[in-house]
Parts: sequence; structure tokens; C-alpha cells
Amino acid sequence: MKEIWRNGIGQDSHRFVLEDDGEGKRLMLGGVLFPNEPALEGNSDADVVLHALCNAISSVTGVRILGSLADRLCAQGITDSTVYLREALHTLDPAHNPSGRLYELMGIAVSIEAKRPHLAKNIEAMRIRLAQLCKLEVGDVGVTATSGEGLTDFGRGLGVAAIVSVSIREIREIRE
Ligand SMILES: [Zn+2]
Repeated sequence: MKEIWRNGIGQDSHRFVLEDDGEGKRLMLGGVLFPNEPALEGNSDADVVLHALCNAISSVTGVRILGSLADRLCAQGITDSTVYLREALHTLDPAHNPSGRLYELMGIAVSIEAKRPHLAKNIEAMRIRLAQLCKLEVGDVGVTATSGEGLTDFGRGLGVAAIVSVSIREIREIRE
């Protein structure tokens, strides 16, 4: 058996809904509900952190979730991005990725760019929720946030962008 460490990276962004009807969907980030904030646009719950995390996992496994399986689930009315994440985590199993490799998610690093909401007081809640969703310890999940001094549309409050990096351990059989 040979152990290899892999790094994955994923990105996503969504804009805020322009007209908030006050009772529609609310902002979800990293699986955490922000009840007093307007939602992000998207057919799903538009959780950019979970979408970027799915993309990061796909960058290692080669199995597309967003723009593929997630779209099909969304068309069936499943808009909860934690379901898409569960499907992405499923592809770490050798029976569910094309190379038949055994992957283990070991750590997650999240970088969020946004002017709003104010994220500092919610960082810990996101770490706890992400750890729970990925069956990791809170210490294995890092979340940082910046407004980037307002240099981009995210820093100006028009939307939210996230970049997620994953550390994945791959157990490979050594064949002679
Ligand atoms: Zn998205």
C-alpha cells in the first residue's frame, strides 16, 4: 500500500437576489443559515461554500457534481446543497470514482470574499457545520473571510465568492 497526499481546489460565486421579497429563501453559507440576510441567486440554495467544496472534491476524484449530478437533483426539486456535498463525498469511495481509488478527506480550507454579511462572528459556526457534514474534527476545517478592500463586486457587496482547498489522502495499492 502506498499513501499519497492530494490537494484539490474549487471555486464558486453567486450574486445576491436583487429584489428580496422578505419571505423567500435566506442566505446559506457553509451549511449555516443567515436568517436576516437576503439570499444568493441560483436554482439551488446557492451555498457558494458548499459548491466550491464540491468542486474541490471533483478536482481530485474527476467526478463532476456541480453542473452535472447537482443540476439533475435540482431539477427534481432537491435544492439543499448539503445533498450535493453528500454525493461528492460519496465519490471518495473506490466504487464511485472512475479510477477506483480510495480517498479520505483529511482537511478543508475555505476562503470567502464578501462585504456582507459580516462573517467574523459566524466563522466558528461554519467550521462546526462543515466538520459535521464531512465527518471531520473542527480543527480540520479552517475558514477565513475578507472584503478585499472592496476591489471586486464581492467586496462591494453584490455577491459572495468562495475558494475551497481540500487535503485528501489516497491509498493506492502497489502493483508489481
Ligand atoms: Zn454555486
